[in-house]
Amino acid sequence: MISADLLALVRCPACRGTLAGEPSALVCASCGARYDGSPRDFLDLRPREAFQEQTKYLDEALHADARYERVSPPFLGSKIRNDMLRAFLAPSPGDLVVDLGCGSGRALLWNRDWSARTVGVDIAPFFAAEARAGVDLLLGDLRRLPFADGTFTRGYSLDVLEHLSPEALRGMLAEAARVMAPGGTLFVYTHVRKNARIAVGLRWINALARRLERAGLIDMRQERLRKSDHLNPLADIPELRRVADEAGFRIARIRYYTPIVGGFVENILLRLAEKRLADRAKGAEGAKGAKGAGAKSADGAPAHGAPSAQAPSAPAPSAHGAPLAPAPSAHGAPLAPAPLAPSAPLAPAPLAPSAPLAPLALSDEDALRMARAEGKRRVAESAGTRVVLRALTLAMKLDLLLFGRIESGPFFALLERRSE
Ligand SMILES: [Zn+2]
Repeated sequence: MISADLLALVRCPACRGTLAGEPSALVCASCGARYDGSPRDFLDLRPREAFQEQTKYLDEALHADARYERVSPPFLGSKIRNDMLRAFLAPSPGDLVVDLGCGSGRALLWNRDWSARTVGVDIAPFFAAEARAGVDLLLGDLRRLPFADGTFTRGYSLDVLEHLSPEALRGMLAEAARVMAPGGTLFVYTHVRKNARIAVGLRWINALARRLERAGLIDMRQERLRKSDHLNPLADIPELRRVADEAGFRIARIRYYTPIVGGFVENILLRLAEKRLADRAKGAEGAKGAKGAGAKSADGAPAHGAPSAQAPSAPAPSAHGAPLAPAPSAHGAPLAPAPLAPSAPLAPAPLAPSAPLAPLALSDEDALRMARAEGKRRVAESAGTRVVLRALTLAMKLDLLLFGRIESGPFFALLERRSE
């Protein structure tokens, strides 16, 4: 949404002058730059100058599963990250909080009970419908934030930093420090490349996952695609310290996260469940296809939207905001839901009269998408599913209890803006 508060807060991303006019046609009072064409439910304040570096995050293929469309409550890895965010950041009513790289806007939605005001910024318009309707959102480049110096007292950035090049990371942190008031805090969840030795457990789990995939029991392709844009700019924790310091932050708190239980739950158990649902969807579609039915998911809803809740471990789908150049295309376009499974191939195959129920060419991607939609539906409707997920989430907290103090790759850190 675009609230009056948001309009009062934003500045020209080029010169930080004040903006005047209607939300759909803002003009900078200082440099005259025009920001036309914001849709009704978020502002488009991406800088008009283009950065050379583009993030693959803007690539629509990464969003083909449209998992951003519908937000489930947080479970598993998402729940752990969100609990840590809440514990570390703990905003009070007077705080103004910015989500840097908000993705679908799910963390903004999960924390709507905060009495502090919040604003979400992302470079790509893959916002969930619920977020567009209920929280302040804007399209912007994290390296050219459309806010005055010292605007925010709190901020957070989840699964974003790993998408940046070293140069973009420095630009992003410097900009985050600029818009943060002295003493303000920024919570980040990301990882450095150097893992602790205990992370060897995670490698075993991933090796098991690959073996299961070869056996056709799980499907990791969407996972690999999603991680394909990771640039992992930070080598180790000392480098994090240096880079944060250069930007004007000090590390006030840090906890490490080596997801051994988490890796087993999310990379093995969930993938197995997902594959089973996908196979079932394929079977059902095959049967339906034989009867000439259309391509809809089990509950009749369009088959997109994925379980952010039971979504993958590592860098979750909320990862975004890679602060990169303005999307080349019109922002309207990416908002359209991914096309559904084509209905044509569902007609019975003419050459298979003996097997009228043979599943017909529901693609693996479509089947997986339907499995995720079904997963989301179960999270929403089945108390039993939620009990299981809560128990698994609790088990995953062991990783924090046991390994939280062992310096390793993924970490939660609270960066405090130095007052100079
Ligand atoms: Zn300006």
